[in-house]
Amino acid sequence: MSTIKEALYRELELKIATAVEGVNFDPLIFRTLDLGDTYQEEVHCLFETDHEHHVGIEFPAWFLSPHGLTYLLKWDRRSQYSFILEYGVYYLAYKGEVIFPVEFTKRPRYYGLKTSDGVRMNTLAIYNQDGAIQTAYSNECAFKEQGRDCKFCNINATSRAYGEAEGIGWKYPHQIGETVAAAYKLDGARHFTLTGGFVAERREVEYYLDVADAIREHTGLYDFNGTAVIGAPLDLSIIEKYKEAGFRTIATNIEIWDKHIFRAICPGKDLESGGWEHWVKTLEYEAEVFGRGKVRSNIVAGIEPKDSTLEGVEYLASKGVICFATSWNPNPGSALEGHRTPEPEWHIDLYKKVASIFRRHGYTFDEIYDCYAAPITPIHDIYRIEDESLPIFSKKADAVEVA
Ligand code: SF4
Repeated sequence: MSTIKEALYRELELKIATAVEGVNFDPLIFRTLDLGDTYQEEVHCLFETDHEHHVGIEFPAWFLSPHGLTYLLKWDRRSQYSFILEYGVYYLAYKGEVIFPVEFTKRPRYYGLKTSDGVRMNTLAIYNQDGAIQTAYSNECAFKEQGRDCKFCNINATSRAYGEAEGIGWKYPHQIGETVAAAYKLDGARHFTLTGGFVAERREVEYYLDVADAIREHTGLYDFNGTAVIGAPLDLSIIEKYKEAGFRTIATNIEIWDKHIFRAICPGKDLESGGWEHWVKTLEYEAEVFGRGKVRSNIVAGIEPKDSTLEGVEYLASKGVICFATSWNPNPGSALEGHRTPEPEWHIDLYKKVASIFRRHGYTFDEIYDCYAAPITPIHDIYRIEDESLPIFSKKADAVEVA
């Protein structure tokens, strides 16, 4: 293996470890960073993934390793990983020892704009790196009112904590259309995900169709490379409508593969949306409508045994569905707040196994890019490392300083 690849795999393991353990820092450490102008700020449109709330104190959304991997910033005061600021340079450290200097991601240009009716675009679609943007049309989930929200989910707690403070509310299709057009034009965005919590009336389909129309009108693109994230509809025939509306891919998150654990962890999805068998049937049907490799799912990894998760990823891959297994983060405000996710090594092993399943089934980078909202998961990184597609590979080997 080349020294660059070795260094990247070390940085990837560190990325997973810092995502699991978080990074400790004084919340005021970023007060001299030009956040909200030069650097991209975190916007809470869906879930708080820091391990505690920080209302009123801005954090950067992401940071970069020396070889170009993008790390999600997760604040955790108990972590042995930390940020150190010295002479204007931020460093990632472990037990006080510097590992490497970090850069924060630049703010996309559309974040500084407003829609024609005066809404800030950074509250309408967040920039998830590498050209991917995401809108959460509803930042609440109706399952909460019935006490049936998923036990790992903190969408309503995030909305309560940050919604008003950050000006995040319901989004209208024309606002989304204008925002997507700006991001595509000014920031080279090339993928859009539309998601949100369950709404009581289940009128998702009409809304998604209106959003697709607005995006097409404002971008001038028929195929805008959109992913529609939906709950399993009781009437599967409406899935065709999402395809006709112009979404290239569709996503339905099963969350847990073991059907008994699914019932306990996702009571709303079980009782209000057809149950585990119906979610699997939905994914299989979506693959028939959208085609192999054009359907995505996700398992929250670390709640059920690893073998069960891998069984689900393998089964769905054989049916044309790309099922990720992203690390469970015990989010603040979720029913499982305070629980522990497995050790970083557990997640590192799982990511490698999931990537190997995807590659064995022949899924390409473009397919895993097109179906995912934030295409910088460790799975995407493994593809980029193995395909040598990161910019670092095009630099002269002797010009690269290996960590
Ligand atoms: S369906 Fe579950 S994961 Fe999705 S928003 Fe509602 S509670 Fe959260």
